[in-house]
Amino acid sequence: MRLNPHLPLVYHSNYSFSFDPKHRFVMSKFAHLYEQVKGLGIAGNNLVEPIWGSPEPLELVHCENYIHDLWHNRLDEKAMRRIGLPWSQPLMDRTFTAPQGTLQTARLALKHGLACHLAGGTHHAHTDFGSGFCMVNDLAFTAQTLIQSGEVTNVLIFDLDVHQGDGTAAMLAHQPYAYTCSIHCEKNFPFRKSPSDLDIGLANNMQDAEYLGVVDDTLQFLLKELNPDLVLYDAGVDIWQDDGLGKLDISWDGIKQRDHLVFKRCLEHNTAIASVIGGGYDRDHTRLAQRHAIVIEQAAGF
Ligand SMILES: [Zn+2]
Repeated sequence: MRLNPHLPLVYHSNYSFSFDPKHRFVMSKFAHLYEQVKGLGIAGNNLVEPIWGSPEPLELVHCENYIHDLWHNRLDEKAMRRIGLPWSQPLMDRTFTAPQGTLQTARLALKHGLACHLAGGTHHAHTDFGSGFCMVNDLAFTAQTLIQSGEVTNVLIFDLDVHQGDGTAAMLAHQPYAYTCSIHCEKNFPFRKSPSDLDIGLANNMQDAEYLGVVDDTLQFLLKELNPDLVLYDAGVDIWQDDGLGKLDISWDGIKQRDHLVFKRCLEHNTAIASVIGGGYDRDHTRLAQRHAIVIEQAAGF
């Protein structure tokens, strides 16, 4: 497959930092993903670095107190336990930079039709609390920013991470121009789900053919129904059969087919699409980076 060396990619070197390698959350995966993408020969002057993040822009969608308490390490132990990551300044730097990266990716997608972020998809972050390794919600931030500025009329957030996009759903519940759709494993985290505009809860151990059918039917329906200016695509790879936190039975090839299909449908419909990597859990860190690289490789195939 010939890969497009001009595919806009967004990455910041602060995304990965020195972190406990035994932690469930693989903090090194962003740097490893960047290496994978470089290895594909598609990370040249098409690579864009977002601005270094700070708390203020996130006040657009988050509670001001929460954002500043998080930034200054003033959240209590319970709130930090719910997030599941130990506070540090490098963690804050990457956490507040990634939403800028998703916003930048969306703007590049609006200009070029297609763009990929080598991070993003922190969909369990709510207005005033974080959970499940997510502290600030890049998807809600990006949608709200673009709608408010008039850069888009409407956005579809198409969340295919294996976990339901509860934070995004709750944060955008009253934003009529952002449509949230989550296709996830029903019997998985978060156990208390916030309703998206469309939720499709899948049975445990679902396999490729059935899964791909649901994804395709849903996306085609939504593109036609909503005619969005932009799709924000959460390409979580925790749908994989051997993922540490997933409960579906999707093969490696099934992930490739899914990502190809999502890009293909959006491009056929002339809808701009920006992808974020979403979740993925694996003790084998190289294999995890390879899994996250699938979405970039599929995008570069167009
Ligand atoms: Zn997930």
